[in-house]
Amino acid sequence: MARNRPCGVCGKWFYPNARQGERQHTCGLAACKKEWHRRACAKWHDRNPGYDQHTRLVTRLVKDDPPEQRGRQPDPLNLIDWAIAKDEVGLKVAVLVEETGKVLLQVARDAIPA
Ligand SMILES: [Zn+2]
Repeated sequence: MARNRPCGVCGKWFYPNARQGERQHTCGLAACKKEWHRRACAKWHDRNPGYDQHTRLVTRLVKDDPPEQRGRQPDPLNLIDWAIAKDEVGLKVAVLVEETGKVLLQVARDAIPA
């Protein structure tokens, strides 16, 4: 059983819950748990810089409702909003990526026997 210890936020001594043991770092007050969580999130974001930027960009780039193509497989390149991609990375890089995608798509389609 874990021994009593000071809260990692307020410093008040507490007995950790038997199920949590060594993993419990706060006294259990909602304010202390919230502050501990806030600090843990801040540390995580320090270790993973750019994660939020990446997630927001991916969310903006991938279209929610790609255009319908009757009777055909949807074109995967239509899943990307190329106007936003162009704004984010510049025209040259966006065109390079889009054209590379087209070549890879054609290679993939050619590899599948009719
Ligand atoms: Zn506390």
